Amino acid sequence: MAPPMAFVASAPLVRRTGAGRSALDVTRRPLSALPARAARRTLSAAKVSMADDTLNDLLANNLEWSKNMTAQDPEYFTQHVAGQTPKYLWIGCSDSRVPANQIVGLPPGSLFVHRNVGNVVSHSDMNVISAIEFSVKVLKVRHILIVGHDYCGAVTAAMNDERVGAIDHWLSHIRDVRRRHAVQLSKIDDYEARRDRLVQLNVLEQVHNTCAMSAVQSAWNEGQPLSVHGWMYRLSDGLVRDLGFRVDGPEEIDSVYRTVTPRAAEVPTGKGMLAEA
Ligand SMILES: [Zn+2]
Repeated sequence: MAPPMAFVASAPLVRRTGAGRSALDVTRRPLSALPARAARRTLSAAKVSMADDTLNDLLANNLEWSKNMTAQDPEYFTQHVAGQTPKYLWIGCSDSRVPANQIVGLPPGSLFVHRNVGNVVSHSDMNVISAIEFSVKVLKVRHILIVGHDYCGAVTAAMNDERVGAIDHWLSHIRDVRRRHAVQLSKIDDYEARRDRLVQLNVLEQVHNTCAMSAVQSAWNEGQPLSVHGWMYRLSDGLVRDLGFRVDGPEEIDSVYRTVTPRAAEVPTGKGMLAEA
């Protein structure tokens, strides 16, 4: 699809900084406001970039979105520049069909998001460790949502023993879940149902892993309200299922993962999430 002419005339400029590096000039200026040489350069750049319809579409969409949101609320963007106070941390799959903010209808500033292949929370992944630590310790999120989804390519590959390449190392986290629950999974004859169950079990294990993170344990030990939830999103109807895996404190996770002493007022229930599965 060809970009609208208004966009071509206001294409972003790529300029050279003093250090000789490229920098994207995001201020869109009409061609009439530019010196003749700069205008020719802009038109030339716009022609080149028009060859790549996809990126032009994205930039045009962005321009339209920014205009629309500002028209609806002049402070829609400026209200966020001072900082963020999201109540939720979303840990989900990178799958393009699972857009976090859209699914739960939250605007910018409301949802801190970490996504990776298969919504894995690995104890050796500094990326997810950092996301959890920052959101819990600094932003003081109230809820952590671990969100799996049906038809997940990562879960499918883990279930089918497909070998893809370097990503196999990452998928080993999900293969471990499959191995840990092999007996339960073997009792499900239907392939789709078995795969859905592995998605759920993977969420459950990642809830467990999240609860074991030092930032989460420390928050609970200091009395900070924090709940970890397990959800499953269905592509076919766009609805989230609460899987009922919710942990509100260290007394609710298996003792093997517990590194802090439950507070006196909290009596251990003895229920293990794996038993509930
Ligand atoms: Zn996925």
